[in-house]
Amino acid sequence: MNRQYDVVVIGAGPAGLLAAGKAAKEGARVLVLEKMEKPARKLRITGKGRCNITSLKPLDEFLAEIKPEPRFLRDAFGEFFSNDIIELIESQGVDVVIERGQRVFPKSGKAWDVAEALIRWAKGLGVSIVCHATVTAINLTNNSISSVAYNANGEHLVQCGSVVLAAGGKSYPATGSTGEGYLLAEKCGHRITPLRPTLVGLESNPVYGGASGLILKNVNLSVFVDGKKVSQEFGELDIMPYGLSGAIVLRVSREVVDFLNDGRDVELEIDFKPALDHEKIDNRLLREIEGNPKMGMIDLARKLLPKQLAEIMLDELEIAFQKIVSRASSDDRKLIRLWLKEKRFRVTGYRPWNEAIVTAGGVSLKEVNPHTMESKLVKGLYFGGEVLDLDGATGGFNLQIAYSTGWLAGKSAAATR
Ligand SMILES: Cc1cc2nc3c(=O)[nH]c(=O)nc-3n(C[C@H](O)[C@H](O)[C@H](O)COP(=O)(O)OP(=O)(O)OC[C@H]3O[C@@H](n4cnc5c(N)ncnc54)[C@H](O)[C@@H]3O)c2cc1C
Repeated sequence: MNRQYDVVVIGAGPAGLLAAGKAAKEGARVLVLEKMEKPARKLRITGKGRCNITSLKPLDEFLAEIKPEPRFLRDAFGEFFSNDIIELIESQGVDVVIERGQRVFPKSGKAWDVAEALIRWAKGLGVSIVCHATVTAINLTNNSISSVAYNANGEHLVQCGSVVLAAGGKSYPATGSTGEGYLLAEKCGHRITPLRPTLVGLESNPVYGGASGLILKNVNLSVFVDGKKVSQEFGELDIMPYGLSGAIVLRVSREVVDFLNDGRDVELEIDFKPALDHEKIDNRLLREIEGNPKMGMIDLARKLLPKQLAEIMLDELEIAFQKIVSRASSDDRKLIRLWLKEKRFRVTGYRPWNEAIVTAGGVSLKEVNPHTMESKLVKGLYFGGEVLDLDGATGGFNLQIAYSTGWLAGKSAAATR
């Protein structure tokens, strides 16, 4: 057959770029089709514009951050892991720094630089990237890849030996990841496990609209399902107009979304002062009162919390702001202690796809060979990145899944020439 390309890669995100570059490195003629106006739109906004490139956690700890089947990644991580992506990015002139929690960022602080480095690397290996090209069909003959149809100012058909489907998930659709990859996979006979937004903010009751925008560091969060504690996280909490977000909420969001979808009752308990037990808080309150017996309760509350939260706490506890602290009863102090240590929020929902960082669910791993990333149903069809039923916690895990699965898919796709 007169093939124009050996490998066609669908999607120029991190998975697609790694697949394309690796396949080209192996000598394949590679075309990447990307529907947006430029490659790697999502990558450019990762990590609040700074891109948490990967994590330097050792393999076992790394795998523990991944759901639902981390073992599926053993070969992909064996082929290409965190040190490899760092080396690749640095080879393109982008230095990295390691921050708290073994998270890796570009030294420049610009996700854009990481995206450009990957594009430069792939193009340098001879990869062709066509933008404004939306893939509409993967065509098969006798259950093997024959061609890919795409729309780019008209309909086009490209003959190829293999395809890497790296079209991403469904979250942040404005970046191009609109879930089309799942439809393309489904048309090839693949099963898609239920898709859910994850790493997503949680809607709550109460909502602290007056404190929205507030970021609280070193907070403890416990998740209660039907009254039973199921997990706990420590770190940053963001107060949002709809409820709660921030690193600790994102980390628990995966299980919370599933519990909510199962109709379970979910509450989050916030400990605003995890370093102080009840006794220490009481001693602190008594010291403050003794030191300034004439101040109002609001001044006392402000010594423990930012202004907006201090006001919300006293409102909720129905304690007058101007009540003189020397008149505070032991009950008042107890109410304050309980609020600070055990404030409960009922979770009423989660934010929509356009605010979710990652998609949970995707192409069923049962139908993909973990040694090659090849479909077990269609010869010459490979998968890479978020389109697969894999997702990680915040901290650079999701991008590493994309690079590693993309790399292995590209290597295997090139070998089927
Ligand atoms: C706001 C935000 C911040 C994030 N921060 C981090 C972080 O700091 N660290 C981290 O590890 N992860 C982070 N992530 C997650 C990470 O960005 C994704 O998991 C990762 O980009 C997935 O890579 P991918 O290549 O599989 O898919 P994508 O990056 O989504 O790329 C898929 C590409 O396919 C293209 N495409 C889709 N359909 C078609 C079609 N039919 N034809 C042609 N092209 C198509 C899309 O336009 C897109 O360019 C963040 C995500 C978001 C939304």
